[in-house]
Amino acid sequence: VKKLKEYSENIYKCTKCGLCQSVCPIFEETNLEHHVSRGKLTLLNGIINEELTFSKKISKYLDLCTGCRACFDFCPSGVLTEEIITSARYENSMINEINLIKRIIISIFKSKTKMELLNFGIDIYKKTGIIQPVNEISGFMGGVGNIAKVFNLQIIENIKYTRLNPVKTLSKLNLVYFPGCISSYVNKSVKNAVLMVLEKNGFIVNVPEGFVCCGTIARSAGDFNTFIELAEKNISLIPENTDFIITECASCGSGWDFYLEFYEGKHQVKAKKLADKLVNIYEFIDKTNIYIPETSEFKRKVTYHDPCHLSRFQKITQEPRNLLMKIPGLNYIEMKDASKCCGAAGTFCLVNPEISMGITDKKIQNIINTSADTVATACSSCKIGLSFGLISKKVDAAILSPIEILAELYLQEASNRL
Ligand code: SF4
Ligand code: SF4
Repeated sequence: VKKLKEYSENIYKCTKCGLCQSVCPIFEETNLEHHVSRGKLTLLNGIINEELTFSKKISKYLDLCTGCRACFDFCPSGVLTEEIITSARYENSMINEINLIKRIIISIFKSKTKMELLNFGIDIYKKTGIIQPVNEISGFMGGVGNIAKVFNLQIIENIKYTRLNPVKTLSKLNLVYFPGCISSYVNKSVKNAVLMVLEKNGFIVNVPEGFVCCGTIARSAGDFNTFIELAEKNISLIPENTDFIITECASCGSGWDFYLEFYEGKHQVKAKKLADKLVNIYEFIDKTNIYIPETSEFKRKVTYHDPCHLSRFQKITQEPRNLLMKIPGLNYIEMKDASKCCGAAGTFCLVNPEISMGITDKKIQNIINTSADTVATACSSCKIGLSFGLISKKVDAAILSPIEILAELYLQEASNRL
């Protein structure tokens, strides 16, 4: 993986034009130069030239980036700010400890035992039947009540796994699906939907036992050692004969893309082979003649939010929309600035709640302006951030992955046939 110094030529390319100011969600909130790409690059240049050192203050500035890559898309000089900041966070972590909240989250996500315990706790909580009463009293509990509501919303399993009869002849493709932590341990709805849609369309899907977190949270915090540990485990579980590795969660897909950056020699050849097999479910569906039932409908007003890890990192924007527009009964409304960061950005919302909320509020206003009753998106982190924003503004809108909407149609069709 590239060291900060190795980016020095790319940093020098910054002409200080300031165009990044117009797209950086953080700068839009704070108007502070050291919060935007140009300002951070000036500071990092000082570190490379040994005029500055990684102080606690600079460490804080490095945390003030959602990693949305909007500045890269807009930068006429092609400055790789997100990669540069991530590399700087790694070097900074050897001098100043990674933020405590980030360390706690990483330690939970990297441990299969802790994730299984979380899953066990959530199952018990659901079985007690107190979700509804908690939702009712949360209205009187201010901010704490909102957090409880957001939590409850994340654990509702919209799609229960149901084996459906395939409508097509069985495909010979060997598919591996990587569900990611949230879909495996917090809410299986998206995982169920992906499996049901693929199976209904004649694909046999393998989900190897033992997958761990994709590592995106660790990479983004600059904890490269944890990232590599997780990457190695996941890579080792992919069978040789795999044709495609499918992801739905935007961050997981990017996580697999990042694996390539971290390897050299023969490991890089293997990582490259795997990266070539990586496909997002919406891209896969778009290229497959996917079955859409004509007898069931999803009569809702839906808008779509582009997760940064899907639109800017994996360049997938049209495919989820194409699927939504094929759904019978669905009224699709595009929101303003759909591809703008929602402010959640993994642990960013926990470390910088005020700035994060400011960014989220703008996104929520754009959602309100569409009068949609459903927000579709494909990222576990965005879903948490959007839920918080919608609940805080008392907007009653559901948040679903497009794949859950398609699975819902399949379930409706199956129940009509009973
Ligand atoms: S847009 Fe690019 S070149 Fe211009 S100031 Fe920002 S980082 Fe530098
Ligand atoms: S990656 Fe996003 S948040 Fe970070 S500096 Fe660039 S535009 Fe701002």
